[in-house]
Parts: sequence; C-alpha cells; structure tokens
Amino acid sequence: MCLSAQNISLTVDATKTQNKILHAHLVMPVKPGPLTVYYPKWIPGEHGPDGPIANLTGLKFIADGKVIPWQRDLLDVFTFHLDVPAGVSRIEADYDYIEPDGGSATDKLLILEWNEVALYPEGTPAEKLMYETKLIMPEGWKFGSSLPVAGQSGNEVSFKPISLDLLVDSPVATGIYYRNIDITPQGEPIHHQMDLVADSEDALNMSPKDQKAMTNLVAESGKLFGARHYRDYHFILGLSDHVAHFGLEHHESNDSRLPENILLGPGSGMALGGLLAHEFVHSWNGKFRRPADLTVPYYEEPMKTDLLWGYEGLTDYLGPLLAARSGLFTPEQYHEWLASIAASLGPGRPGRTWRPLRDTADAEFGMGFGARGWMNWRRGTDYYDEGDLVWLEVATIIHRESHGSKSIDDFCHAFHGGANNGPEVKTYTFEQLVSDLNAIAPFDWATFLHTRLDSTSPEAPVGGIENGGWKVSYTDQPAKLEGRRGNPGSVYSIGLQVGADGTVSDSIVGSPAFEAGVSSGMKVVGVNGRVYTPDLLGAAIKDAKDNSKPITLLVVVDEFYRTCTINYHDGPRYPHLVREEGKPDYLDELIKARAGQ
Ligand SMILES: [Zn+2]
Repeated sequence: MCLSAQNISLTVDATKTQNKILHAHLVMPVKPGPLTVYYPKWIPGEHGPDGPIANLTGLKFIADGKVIPWQRDLLDVFTFHLDVPAGVSRIEADYDYIEPDGGSATDKLLILEWNEVALYPEGTPAEKLMYETKLIMPEGWKFGSSLPVAGQSGNEVSFKPISLDLLVDSPVATGIYYRNIDITPQGEPIHHQMDLVADSEDALNMSPKDQKAMTNLVAESGKLFGARHYRDYHFILGLSDHVAHFGLEHHESNDSRLPENILLGPGSGMALGGLLAHEFVHSWNGKFRRPADLTVPYYEEPMKTDLLWGYEGLTDYLGPLLAARSGLFTPEQYHEWLASIAASLGPGRPGRTWRPLRDTADAEFGMGFGARGWMNWRRGTDYYDEGDLVWLEVATIIHRESHGSKSIDDFCHAFHGGANNGPEVKTYTFEQLVSDLNAIAPFDWATFLHTRLDSTSPEAPVGGIENGGWKVSYTDQPAKLEGRRGNPGSVYSIGLQVGADGTVSDSIVGSPAFEAGVSSGMKVVGVNGRVYTPDLLGAAIKDAKDNSKPITLLVVVDEFYRTCTINYHDGPRYPHLVREEGKPDYLDELIKARAGQ
C-alpha cells in the first residue's frame, strides 16, 4: 500500500519485546517552522493523565537524513517542541518504549496499547488524524485485535488506515500461545470472539461451560441494550502472572488481564463475570454514551471526572447483572458480591462520614488509584462499588414508580440503544441523564441522585437491596462462595484487613483494633503470645466471644514492637444477603436470564 500524503505512518517493531523493548518508527507530514508533538497523556478509560511518558526513550527526530533537535515543554513532560527546517515536508521519529516489569509484556506475550508507542502533532483532533500502522511480531507469534487488517506477510501485519482515536482504542494481543474462540450466539449477526494470549499453552483451555456462559453474556447484552455500537467485538484476555491485572474498555474490544491459570480453576466464572462483563458493558456505557466532561478531542486536554458514578458506577452495576443473567455468576455469588460491597461501604468505610460519594469521582485524578493503605478513611474509587448500590436502587425505583410496567432494561434500551453506526460517541450531562430516567419512570431523580451523591451518612445506600426484598445480615459463617473481594471475618469484627504475612492493609478507624493502637501499614507478628497466622487470628476472635478474655496482638511499627490489647467479644462477622420475608423478590427477578439460553 502506498502512503497517503496526509497519513502518519507508524511501524512498531516488537521483535525485541522479550527483551522488554518496543521500537517505533513514525513518519509524519509537516510544514516548515515551529512544530509541537505530543505523547498521549490523558488515556481514555484511565480517567487520569497517566500516559507512561517515563518509558519513552531513544527519541530522535530526523528530516532529510539530518537529526533535528527537540526540547521538552517546561510545564508539560508529554510535550516536545522542534523547528522544522525550510523545505522539509515530512519528518521521521525513531523511539523506543520500555515495557515495565508487571506491564503488558512477558517472554511469551505482548498486549500492545497504541498510546504507548504513538506520537501525534498539535492542532488536529484525534478522530481526524489518520494512521497507517504495521506491527512486526517475534517469529511464530500469532495475534488478535479488532483492528481491520490490510495484509500479513510472515510476522509482519499491516492494518488498514485508521484514525488515532480508534487506533488508541484498539489494542493488539500477540503471543506464541494464542487462541481465538467464537462466542457469537446463534442468530446474532455481529461477530464476537475471545482472543486469548497466555504464558502457557495449557492456560488457554477455557472450559466449554465458560465458553457457553460467555456466549450467553453476548446474548444477554443484546437483550439488555437492544442495540450494539461496533462492527465486531473482541474480548482480549491476557493470562499471565507477570502482567498488570486490570481491564480497560474499548468500543470494539476490551483488554483484560488475569492470572495465568485462572481459567483452569473453580473461580473462572467469577473472574470472567467480575472483569470481562464490566469491560464489555463499557462499549455501551462509557464508550458510546459518555459524560460530556470526559469527552475530549485529543489526549492533551484534561478530562473532568464528576460523572464517573455514571460512567463507572452504572457499568459496575450492569456488569455483574449480566454476569448473573448469563450464568458466569450463580445467584448465590451475586448475593454475596452485593453483600460484600454493602459491608465494605458501610461499616468498612467510616470515610464516608467526611467525604461524600460525589467527591470520590470529582477528585479521581490524584486521589483515585494512587493511594495505598487507610482506604477506609481516605475512600478511594468508591464511585465504582457504590455505583452498584445506587444503580440497583435506581432499577428498583423504576420498577416501583412504573408499577412494574418498566425496568432498568427499558432505560438501557432508551439510553444506550439506537442505530449501529460502528464506534461513535454520544455525550450526556447530569440533566440529560435525569431527563432520560424521567422518560422511563417519572420521579424526582435529580433529588434522589443528589441525595446519594452528597450523603455523609455512615450507612451504605442499601435501599436497592431492601426494595429488592433482601437485607444485609452478619453471621459467624464465611460465605460458601467467596465474592471478588472475599470477606475475612476480621474486618467486620475487630476492624482489621490483614494479609497472609500479617501486614495490615487497612485498620478501620473507630474499630476495636484501631482503638487498641493498630494502624494501617503495621505488621501483626503475634496473636495471644504465638506467631501470627491468619488461622490463629481467626481462632482468637472466636475464642474471645462472650467472655472477658482480650485478644492480644504483637505488632511491628517501623522497627519497634508494640503490644495491642483488643477488647472485642462478639465473634467473627461475615456479611450476607438474606431474604426479607413477605417482600417480593425483585432482586432475583432482575438477574433472571432474558435471552432464553
Ligand atoms: Zn470500568
């Protein structure tokens, strides 16, 4: 293919990815004079200015065979200034991207995120900048992506010209161990597939049961939204213990990473339902319908994060809902999931008494993902989990106010539906969201949402659970089926979240352990005079029930020992959902399969 004069060409040489280095060669049409070039800063879906600029190395600009000097902007490390000499109509840039440990590359696989290897010129929106890209993979590696392919020759693949915003939105999974699985439901005209890359061949062995449940997930998404906004859809799944574990949404794919052997064990459905269903929902909620404040023309412009309780909160409600409808979660797992969220945001979150939910979204940049420890008092990205509860409550109010004639599915049809024009963005504001809810079920939605967003009550908003005919209850029995976050008995009893090695990841402010002097970041080394193990702590909490014997913890603070005496005698406490007799069970009605699988 010949290079169009307007297009930018980008070749990524990943043949040294096993040495953790990607080389990029970029050719850009330019005019003589001052030129500003950016490295992507605000990455869609990450909600912050966290482009990995420190890993961009070896940068050189060349015109007519001569190196052109560059200077970094004094106020922004993502910005480079250079002077294009007279008579020059295109410049070349050569640079490397260093794959960090625990990033996106291992000896056997790479998940290429194009924002990590792309530069772009100032002055044109990302949707108007066209890129022609080529990827050179290590010998014998295969690949999967939603990017339309122009051609392949050996280990080199060329993609069709694409705008920068869709390029950044279309990662490529490549690896020596690769498998694709067709999960298009019968009768569904749009192709859906999984693209698995792993650190071993064995790890790709997804069970027929999980494949069926993923196919159900696709079918259920069609029922819930009534429309799709993509040409085809790829679930990219990286299976490794040496990559960062997270998920990132895109219009036509999602980039999810889980431990290497997750598909081989009993927790596979929970893992797929907890992560992949959420990222899939984002294709409608977040990518297609996006808060106007989070929609920017290119990656240098800051985003405002105040509506993340819609972008992430509604997604975090609909993901598990679809996981339960499709069989990735059992109803019992769904109940335990909700109970663990309600507990962690109620007794586990005294920070809610000073910091309302709204602020966890407003202050996402700077306070969202970065902080470690003291999360019960700081709060973190609570707009995710609390969004589950708030939007469940919305679903039950729609049901109540419409006297059972409308449901959250009707709202999703109206809000996320419409014609399939491929990947596109339709923005919304708070007022538009309220108006769209009102069109489904007339109600004072603005006051309801403001109340939930501004509350500094110590109680989690469990109205949706209760309207659904259930309530949160604490017993001394652990969940038979652990949810995503687990629920160790020490958290809602003495108030400690303790790791297997004794490190206190959180000590709930005001709890018995906190009052006894145990703080986040300390290390428990002894329980009642014996070397700490998680089982020993569990037994000590049980033994102290209904008597006056205190629990004594030996903790290390910096390099000093401290003995902390905890007077707690109510035994272990684990959150569960239990039915409220006499109330209709609308919660389980909401998670019943719709697609008839
Ligand atoms: Zn999300």
